[in-house]
Amino acid sequence: MADNKFGDFKRAWVEIDLDALARNVLDIKSKISSDCEIMAVIKADAYGHGVGRVAERLVREGVNTFAVATLAEGAEVREHTDSSNILVLGYTHPADAEYLVKFRLSQLVVDAEHAKALDKTGHKLDIHVAIDTGMHRLGISPKNFADIESIFNCKNLTVIGTATHLASPDSLLSDDLEFTKKQMDSFFSVVQKLQDREYDVGKLHTQSSYAIYNHPEIKCDYVRPGIMLYGVHSQDDETKLETDFRPVLSLKALIAQVREIEKGESVSYGRIYTAEKVIKLATVTIGYADGIPRNLTGRGGMCIVNGVKVPIIGRICMDMLMLDVSEAGEVKAGDHATFIGKVGDAEIRCEEFAASAGTITNEILCRLGARLPRIYIERLVGDAAEVQKEFVRRRLR
Ligand SMILES: *Cc1c(COP(=O)(O)O)cnc(C)c1O
Repeated sequence: MADNKFGDFKRAWVEIDLDALARNVLDIKSKISSDCEIMAVIKADAYGHGVGRVAERLVREGVNTFAVATLAEGAEVREHTDSSNILVLGYTHPADAEYLVKFRLSQLVVDAEHAKALDKTGHKLDIHVAIDTGMHRLGISPKNFADIESIFNCKNLTVIGTATHLASPDSLLSDDLEFTKKQMDSFFSVVQKLQDREYDVGKLHTQSSYAIYNHPEIKCDYVRPGIMLYGVHSQDDETKLETDFRPVLSLKALIAQVREIEKGESVSYGRIYTAEKVIKLATVTIGYADGIPRNLTGRGGMCIVNGVKVPIIGRICMDMLMLDVSEAGEVKAGDHATFIGKVGDAEIRCEEFAASAGTITNEILCRLGARLPRIYIERLVGDAAEVQKEFVRRRLR
């Protein structure tokens, strides 16, 4: 398959290591009990990794349940997997209920009003119930138990799951740990109350990536990993259980031009950068339209050229940016520049890249531009057992 819609050519691109994705599935599986399953969160085009190939590979790795943010995302995932369960985590307007049926999607119901309106459409829907235990985004507060109960009595809705979302699963501060515990206690007491009244709560799920690694004591039917499936933390931090995964994505672009800039000359818009000595300047064919944050300049934004880390200088433009490659040896037009990823011994991790832009990896990844072709690397083609062997070998080393 061509890298681009129109053929195999390069400007700026993303490389996706699907074998790393498979390995990350195994790492998550090794942290959860055998009766718990992965509900892979592949919203926002699988965090920028390209939802089609990601979903297909995950199915091959035995993942049978997916979560997306929107109806359209659910429909797209359905094109790639006929038999998987797909849950829409975001709000769907009741007027669109027919599409939930058409694409065989289950819907997270946000409150009793939402449930009532979906029920009234007459479509038979599989739903999950969102309990708001303190995140205060979507869901029904346990205080309004009658509202929760009313959802179970909607005749066109079948509850197949009950869920909540944690507000600070990434934090190991005592205050946050206590908050998480409160959220979980609140969730399980609602579940108990429903079960006491003989409602079938379906499958329970509460843990996003960080909660899997920080709160292994939580026992549910599914975990909902997003960012860590893709092999990165949201930011540089510690988790209670060791994470043993590999980044799936690299971000690369071509160098278009190399030349010298005299001392005292400025580079790019607004002339915010002035050379303090003669430098070797390289212009790269990637910019903020491709998802490189414009504010990366002047905050330690780096890039790897010739195996050497070099600084981004001057304002980042929509389609291009400039580097000081004075320390990178011989550099010429057509060479590669790596913004996220590893080249030889040099590495820029997504966590570092995100920190330079003052954000988290989740945001960086899902905002990578639609203009970047996704190039897939799959060395261990064929058998998932091969991946397993590779994984075991690596663990033994
Ligand atoms: C996005 C999302 C997730 C995945 O979160 P990560 O931190 O990326 O693992 C899980 N659950 C819900 C409800 C989400 O919205």
